[in-house]
Amino acid sequence: MDFLAAMRIYLLILAFIFGACIGSFVNCAADRYCAKESILRGRSHCPVCHHALGFLDLFPIFSYLFLRGKCRYCGAKIPIRCLLTELTMGLSFLLAALKFGFTLQALECCMLLAALLAVALIDFDTMEIPDGLLLFGAVVFEAFLFAYDNWQERLTQGLLGAVIYGGGMLLISLIMDAMLKKESLGGGDVKLYALLGLYLGPAVGLVCLILSCLIGLLAAAFGKKGEFPFGPSIAVAAFISLMVGEKIISLYLSIFL
Ligand SMILES: [Zn+2]
Repeated sequence: MDFLAAMRIYLLILAFIFGACIGSFVNCAADRYCAKESILRGRSHCPVCHHALGFLDLFPIFSYLFLRGKCRYCGAKIPIRCLLTELTMGLSFLLAALKFGFTLQALECCMLLAALLAVALIDFDTMEIPDGLLLFGAVVFEAFLFAYDNWQERLTQGLLGAVIYGGGMLLISLIMDAMLKKESLGGGDVKLYALLGLYLGPAVGLVCLILSCLIGLLAAAFGKKGEFPFGPSIAVAAFISLMVGEKIISLYLSIFL
């Protein structure tokens, strides 16, 4: 194997480890947000026995596997969600690096994915999407514009996407609210669509919209009854759209052309 190929594999492994660490951080930050604790202050601790976590407890994925999913100090079960978020983010960062290479675009994509993971986890627990996370996403989009040669086009397409999907979903939710006489789509969901329209533009934004409805319907059919958070479905749809949205469009068009 030549040096470049070895280097590439090494960097991809680093991307996976970095993603797993970010997944671990986001999971912990989301838990703290939901428990109304400070996100940045205080050391990580077991939520059951409150014992501060040691160095060996903080390795993503490995700590969970070595401890067999139990707290080292009190034996309380660590939610499987910790392991799943770490694995998911590791894989997501790996895929982002494969798609965009080791570029600023890949970094931007990873930052959006981290925000989307936080959105999904917090919405799942509290049925709420914090404005701060959406604002973070919008700031990242602005900050990375310079990394694009065609940044004017990216900005125009993005603003168009934000207006179409943010405005469109707002209109639909107002109509549905009036028809059902109760809140249908949350305000957080509408703002999330606007943010994704910004990143994806009008064309891929449509793929994301359709996918999120399909995934949402599946989740509603198999999930628990009653009120159910839509954010996780939108986040999954956004991830698929970011990775293969353009491929889906050209595949769809090739059926007709
Ligand atoms: Zn414990």
